[in-house]
Amino acid sequence: MTKASPVDGAALLRWVELELPEPPWAEREPFLGFVYLDAEAGLSARGGRASDADVVERPSLTVRLPIGVPGRVLPDDEARTRGLPAAPAWLAAYGPQPPVDGPWRRDPALRGRFHPRFPDDLQVLVHDGEPRRTGKRTEVCWVRVGADLGPAPAGGGRLLAGVLLNQPHARTTIHAGDALRFLSAPGGAHPLLVTDAYLAERAAWELEPCPSCGLAEALDPPSVMARTRFPDLDADALPVMFTAHCAACGPPHAQVIKRRT
Ligand SMILES: [Zn+2]
Repeated sequence: MTKASPVDGAALLRWVELELPEPPWAEREPFLGFVYLDAEAGLSARGGRASDADVVERPSLTVRLPIGVPGRVLPDDEARTRGLPAAPAWLAAYGPQPPVDGPWRRDPALRGRFHPRFPDDLQVLVHDGEPRRTGKRTEVCWVRVGADLGPAPAGGGRLLAGVLLNQPHARTTIHAGDALRFLSAPGGAHPLLVTDAYLAERAAWELEPCPSCGLAEALDPPSVMARTRFPDLDADALPVMFTAHCAACGPPHAQVIKRRT
């Protein structure tokens, strides 16, 4: 165990060994612990001296993660060989745990975005729709990811489901505790909240990325954006192409939005 600690969110609900600099035991022996999520303190490991017979069910030490010490996640076969259970009985006292293997924790588009102590929490651009239509600004809020819903309808990345953790200041349509869906890789600076209406028509339109920030999605369904710009047109006379100022950086940066034929 010589390299920097890889013990982060990917270690959730796994056994780990850590080389603590000053462990409360004399022998040169690693800490063996089970990684879980503490609702208040975040990512943690409970355990003790690796050779302690009671280390599994009577942990003597709690370590808050991440911690800048060498460490490793025990592979499943090693954990089995060493007689370690899939989860210790004490885990039940810590409430519902996140999924064992949330694939979003390994999504390259989301690398570095998760809160270091809360490995499913990340910031998402939350909005009520296009600011030009709603008069409301966008806002970056914390979201706890709970499910991967599959590939995004266009472009790359994934469609993910989560729960909004903090109350947006200016939004009216979404509140702390609400379920939401967002795109992991919309271009631009943050993952992006999307609505059912947006998802329903997204695949029918091409959106050129904003030349400044790279955002390749919009905040309103393109048909709604078109009506915002051409309010007098009949519903069946919507333009096949129009431009819109980027919802993230505003004028003069513009996106070209084209209906696929
Ligand atoms: Zn932009």
